[in-house]
Amino acid sequence: MTNSDIEKAVKDPVLLATVIGALIDEENTVINVYEIAKTLKIFIKYTVFESNQGGFYIPPEDEGDIHLVLINAEDIITRQRFSLAHEIAHMLRFQYNDVTTNTAKNRKKEEYFCNKFAEHLLVPKHKLKTALEAFENAPFIDFSDIHGFARRFGVSFSMMTRVLAYRENKIEGETDDRDLTRRIDLYFQSPKDDLKQYWNHILNLYRMAIDA
Ligand SMILES: [Zn+2]
Repeated sequence: MTNSDIEKAVKDPVLLATVIGALIDEENTVINVYEIAKTLKIFIKYTVFESNQGGFYIPPEDEGDIHLVLINAEDIITRQRFSLAHEIAHMLRFQYNDVTTNTAKNRKKEEYFCNKFAEHLLVPKHKLKTALEAFENAPFIDFSDIHGFARRFGVSFSMMTRVLAYRENKIEGETDDRDLTRRIDLYFQSPKDDLKQYWNHILNLYRMAIDA
């Protein structure tokens, strides 16, 4: 990978994610987004935001060369990973295309670009294809099977569902954004047997310790 590879890809979020994903060891399924940040010489600082913001990219000042990414310390790890991937896109867009959120002609489009990059970096097409092989004969993926995919890629259940719905057309039924959000909420509101069993198991372990 050379700088010119990035320059060529910097206007296409999917291509850019492929180029950047190739920076690290292909062996692991869960993409080590921290390793990628390190390779790109990005400094990460955990902080608490007043807003619900997941991350923030700060370009180097004048002659300095420190690219700083702030990550919301209060977020769960799957969101932190997504935020870091998103901010990596902002960094690359600044460094190779001179675009920042503030200078972008269309801010919304710029954010969309970075989200799309993050999604494709964390769930690369070829790795998703491998993961889907086990479901080759199933026209759709059941919600109860999405956990496995989400764990495999280290992303949230919600993001995994959207990838399977919009990229692969593997979610049955109503899948426009609002419907999907409602369906995911409903799914988590009614505890599933496997989750109940898991928590009972954990509670029993605690009970043992407390009783002793
Ligand atoms: Zn952004």
